[in-house]
Amino acid sequence: MHATIALLPGDGIGPEVVAAAADVLEAVAGRRGHTFTLTRSPFGAAALRAGDPPLPPATLETCLAADAVLLGAVGDPAFSEGPRERRPETGLLELRKALGVYANLRPARVWPGLEDGGSLRAETLRGVDLLIVRELIGGIYFGEPRGRTSDRREAFDTMRYAAHEIERIAAVAFESARGRRKLVTSVDKANVLESSRLWREVVAEVASGYPDVRLEHQLVDSCAMRLVSDPGSFDVMLAGNLFGDILSDEAGAVVGSLGLLPSASVGGSGGLFEPVHGSAPDIAGRNLANPVGAIASAAMLLRHALGLGAEADAIETAIGAALDAGCRTADLAREGESSLSCTEMTRAIVDRLGPGPTGGSPRLRNG
Ligand code: NAD
Repeated sequence: MHATIALLPGDGIGPEVVAAAADVLEAVAGRRGHTFTLTRSPFGAAALRAGDPPLPPATLETCLAADAVLLGAVGDPAFSEGPRERRPETGLLELRKALGVYANLRPARVWPGLEDGGSLRAETLRGVDLLIVRELIGGIYFGEPRGRTSDRREAFDTMRYAAHEIERIAAVAFESARGRRKLVTSVDKANVLESSRLWREVVAEVASGYPDVRLEHQLVDSCAMRLVSDPGSFDVMLAGNLFGDILSDEAGAVVGSLGLLPSASVGGSGGLFEPVHGSAPDIAGRNLANPVGAIASAAMLLRHALGLGAEADAIETAIGAALDAGCRTADLAREGESSLSCTEMTRAIVDRLGPGPTGGSPRLRNG
C-alpha cells in the first residue's frame, strides 16, 4: 500500500513522540512492504513563532489532502495568556472541526507487566479494558456565545448540543460496544444541566436500535469515582466533549500514565490520530517522554484510516512485549527502578516488531 500521512509534531514533547511514532511507521513499512509518505507541517506554537496562525492554511491543506493525520501535542506557556486566536490550542480545535472528526476513541487498558504499576491495587486494575467515546467537535468547547463582559470581570461559555450531534456519537458508542463486551455507560450531569437531559433522552432513543447492548446512565461525578474504585466495570464510556476530556486523563492515571493513552478521531473526511496527553512542558526537550501513547496512536491510524489491522496488531503486540519485558520510561518506573529515554523505549518497541511477512528494507518517503 502507498499512503500519505501528515505529521504535525506541534509543541513541547510533541516532536519527540511524533519522531518515535514515525520510526515505528518506518519499521512497519519496511517489514510489510508498504510505502508511507510522511509530511511534516508547522502547527500550534511552532506556527505562531513563525508569525503564522496556530493552524496555518498550508498545514490544513496538507492535512485535508493526506490519508490520515498524526499529531503530537500543542501548548506552550509562552502563548497561554494571549488572545484566543493566538493560542496553540485554538489551532487544535480548528483542525478537529475542519476535519469533521466528531468521534474521539480513547482506549485505556492495562498493558502486560503494568498490572501493579499504577496508583491502584493490582486486584482493582486486573482486566481493565475500556473505551472512552468522546464527542469532539461540539459541546462547551465550541458553543456560542462565549466571552467576557466589557469590564472583563465576568466570563461565560455555552454548553450546547443538538440531537443530531448526540445521535451520531451515540451510534459510534453502540457500534463499538457490539464488538466488545456490549455495555455502554453514558455520562452526563442530567440532574443539573439541560444539555445533559437532552443527551440522556437521545442516547436512550439510539439505544433502542441496539437491543443486544446494555445501556446505563451515570452522572459524571459518580463516574469519576467509579473509574478509580472499579475501573474494570466499564466497557464503552460515552461522553460529551468536556466530560470525556477530563475522564480520559483520569483513565490515564488509572492504567499507569497519561503517556500510555492513544486516540483516534474519526467520523469526518479523514482521520486524526494523537496521544491523549498534552505538550508536557515540564519534561519537553529532555528525551524523557513516554512515546507509547503516540506509537499506539500510529497503530490506530493504520487500523482505522488505512485498514491495516494486522500491522496495527503487530505494533500493539510489540508495545505489550516491551512493557512486559520491564522496559519503562521515567513516568512508569518505580522508585529505584532504572528507566529508558524516549528514543530507547522506541527502539525497544521497534526491536520487538519482528521481521514481518515480507522482510526487506524500509520504504518510506519523507516529504
Ligand atoms: P500534559 O498532558 O501536557 O501533562 C500532564 C502531566 O503528565 C505532566 O506532568 C507531564 O509531564 C505528564 N505527561 C504527559 N504526557 C507524558 C508523556 N508522554 N510521558 C511522560 N509524562 C507525560 O497536560 P498539562 O500539563 O495540563 O498541559 C500542558 C500543555 O498541553 C497545555 O498548554 C495544554 O493546553 C496542552 N494540552 C494539549 C493537548 C493536546 O495537544 N491534545 C491535550 C492536553 C493539554
